[in-house]
Amino acid sequence: MRELKIRERIEIEAGGEALVEKELGRGGQGIVYQVRYRGREYALKWYFISRIRNPESFRNNLRRNIEDGAPEGGKQFIWPLFLTKQKENGAFGYLMQLAPRGYDSFTDIYNGYKWEKPAVKGQPARKHKVKFASLDVMLTAAINIVKAFRALHLSGKSYQDLNDGGFFIDTQTGDVLVCDCDNVAPDGQNFGIGGMPGFMAPEVVRGLAMPNVLTDRYSLAVVLFKLFFRGDPLEGSKVLKCVVMTEENDLIHYGKDPVFVYDPNNASNRPVKGVHDNVIRLWQIYPDFIRQAFTMSFTYGIKEPNARIIEKNWVKMLIQLKLDIIHCSCGKTAFSSVFASQNDHTLVCPNCGTAIYTMGVKDYEVHLYPGARLFDCLTRKGSEDFLTVTGTVVENRIKKGLFGIKNQSGQTWKVLFPDNSLREVGPGGGVPIWKGLKIDFDDKVKAEILL
Ligand SMILES: [Zn+2]
Repeated sequence: MRELKIRERIEIEAGGEALVEKELGRGGQGIVYQVRYRGREYALKWYFISRIRNPESFRNNLRRNIEDGAPEGGKQFIWPLFLTKQKENGAFGYLMQLAPRGYDSFTDIYNGYKWEKPAVKGQPARKHKVKFASLDVMLTAAINIVKAFRALHLSGKSYQDLNDGGFFIDTQTGDVLVCDCDNVAPDGQNFGIGGMPGFMAPEVVRGLAMPNVLTDRYSLAVVLFKLFFRGDPLEGSKVLKCVVMTEENDLIHYGKDPVFVYDPNNASNRPVKGVHDNVIRLWQIYPDFIRQAFTMSFTYGIKEPNARIIEKNWVKMLIQLKLDIIHCSCGKTAFSSVFASQNDHTLVCPNCGTAIYTMGVKDYEVHLYPGARLFDCLTRKGSEDFLTVTGTVVENRIKKGLFGIKNQSGQTWKVLFPDNSLREVGPGGGVPIWKGLKIDFDDKVKAEILL
């Protein structure tokens, strides 16, 4: 195919022309240019038309996606916006929003660094660290990734090519943008994309299935595993023994005989010291329920597409995981699994010995350390908002050493004390942390403090 020239004008189907300004990058499917259209800058993806199996149906699918718009208003997607007209040879492309500043690619986050072009030509490129501001932010990003795919799946479509190049993430806030949305298609339809090695479901690698919602779910588990454990869920000693990763080896290790590195019933592919140190180190620090979720995903779920974890359940687990991070006042920050248990519902900081009580609300367990926050998803019926703070564990200003939950929700909480007296606690008021105390946050959203 012919590449576009800088200053070349490309006709847009919706009318007008886009002016090509510069090349932004290239991949297997085409080249991405920065263009100016109707006074605004966009990214234009221009396809290597010979590499598209059926250009006409691919183009029609793109047009339909543009007409439908992005799921849920599109805030989390860099969605196709305008289709170009076709050139004489059939070539075409589409316009999308440019990736905003402040976002890093998942690939750079995974690698832990990125190369920045020198300000002055001829000087060496500079290596910059890329990492999340905190563990909380990383989990916010994980939840946002899952929520974006749930929105897409609920709209009846599948992404088909989930991989680490498909996201931009703000490492300070956890905001996520899903890019490369041009392969999105109604579930059950496919326009030629297979996926990226390492992310494809085994049945796709083997050629037994085309990408769909269920194979997306497999790829989503891979993305989350890579985010949390900084390694490949199927790459252990068995894979390392094969010196050359030929296509045939890919077919064996990711298709016909995939073995999870921590398969409890098959130790043939364990992570190797000196090679998979991240996975070995990080696998230890996550709570059991998360390790079980990944074990299920890459053992039973690898063969049974219908058994794969649905997005709704990932969201619940990831919110619980976020609630499981304890920031003890002594400075110790870790998942609750690192804290010693005093009894069923009380933890002890291994660093300073402080006792940390637990509250059960909805299906969640909340650890009530000083500074711990309640979120809207805990105190309001049907809410999944895990960012809006509705309560904070604070020390009583007069009685030092006494802790309570300050109501920051704007709602009046009904509190049942252990002596069976019922009191209302309005915004700004506090609820003491007493064993057996029950709170009705909102229309029967009930919590109980467990010590
Ligand atoms: Zn402590």
